[in-house]
Formats: sequence, C-alpha cells, structure tokens
Amino acid sequence: MDIGKNIAEIKDSLPPVTKLIAVTKTKSPETIMEAYRAGHKAFGENKAQELLQKFEELPKDIEWHFIGHLQSNKAKYVIPFVNMIHGIDSFKILKVVNKEAKKNDRVVPCLLQFHIAQESTKFGLDEAEAKEFLNSETFPTLKNVYIAGVMGMATFTDDHEQVRNEFRKLKNIFMWLQNDYFSGNPEFSEISMGMSDDYQIAVEEGSTMVRIGSNIFGSR
Ligand SMILES: *Cc1c(COP(=O)(O)O)cnc(C)c1O
Repeated sequence: MDIGKNIAEIKDSLPPVTKLIAVTKTKSPETIMEAYRAGHKAFGENKAQELLQKFEELPKDIEWHFIGHLQSNKAKYVIPFVNMIHGIDSFKILKVVNKEAKKNDRVVPCLLQFHIAQESTKFGLDEAEAKEFLNSETFPTLKNVYIAGVMGMATFTDDHEQVRNEFRKLKNIFMWLQNDYFSGNPEFSEISMGMSDDYQIAVEEGSTMVRIGSNIFGSR
C-alpha cells in the first residue's frame, strides 16, 4: 500500500472546493504517520477514546475531525482539541458539545448529520427535528458551537442513481438551511458527503468534504 500515492491520486481527482479527510479509524499511529509524512494533515476518527489516544501520540499540527456518532459521556475526551464534529444527530448532543466547549473556552464547528439513506441503522436528523431545534429559544444561546454545514451517508448499494438521489437530497437540505437559517453567514458552508465507494458521485453532487478510509489505507 503506497499511502502517499493513494492520497495524491485522490486529491488530484478532487475539485479545489473539496477537502479530503483521511479516515484513520482502526489504523495504527505508524500508519497515520505515513500519510502525515506525505504531507497530509486532516484526519477523521469515529471513536472518542481512540481519537484521544491518537491525538496524544501524534504531531500536534494534525487537524482532527470527529466523524461518527458522539455519545454524550464521551464528548469530554475530544472537545478540547477536535477541529470539527461531523455527526451532530440530536439537539441533546449539540448542547453537550456546547457545554464541554465552554469549559475549554473554545468555539467548536459542528455539522448537522441528516438521515438520507434507506437503511434504518444510520444515525441522523430529519428536517422536522432540525427545524424544531433551530427555531428553539435555546439554540441562539449556544455560544460555544457554530453550525458549519451538513453531513450525511448514502445507502450502501450498487445502485448509483439511488446514491446520487440521496446526496442530492443532502444538498437540498443544505440549501434550505442556508436560505432559512444561515443566510449571510459564511461559516455555514460545508457539505460532508462521500466515502471510498461513492465519493465521485458525492463530488458531482456538490460535496465540500469527502471522508475516505479504505481507498487510502486498505480495507479494515
Ligand atoms: C469509516 C467511515 C468513513 C470512511 O469509510 P471508507 O469506506 O473506508 O472510505 C467515512 N465516514 C464515516 C462516518 C465513517 O465511519
């Protein structure tokens, strides 16, 4: 596996607006260092304790993205240093992140995760839930988080049209939120969608961040 070459090839295929998050879950610090030495600095993890361990062990100029479902009692492990939380899937977790961020005197960028797949197992908000908390009186009082955009995962299927429609749905949700809640707010700008098997489709549908693991580091 030539990790540096894999990263270079993927980056070459991405438009300038799309950022690569190299997903390192289950991979060792030595493996991550191969990507780091090749010049890559943005990594994603989906388990809080694993992320904390790697943060402690690896160079401090790495930009860490938390990409999974964050449990309330684990937020404290990652909030002191994380660059972005991609998986805000409830108002409750947003409030927890805000509270921990406040303790650390930080403002943490968060993406709202929407449920766009057919599968019932994937976490995520629907439009009604998002609307409810964005309209609440509490939301504007959360000063230690800001909403930087949306995130979603498509169904795991060979049906490319279905995957495309799901990504399109996320883009439409992004545009709805931008228009109704975040207009004139340049911080609301990210659409995190696309993984190893479907990132090309996601890019065609407007992804600004792809989260890719297997295509870089091999299968897990
Ligand atoms: C594991 C994971 C990825 C990367 O998956 P690959 O198929 O290995 O590219 C992306 N996003 C999330 C949320 C993940 O958990």
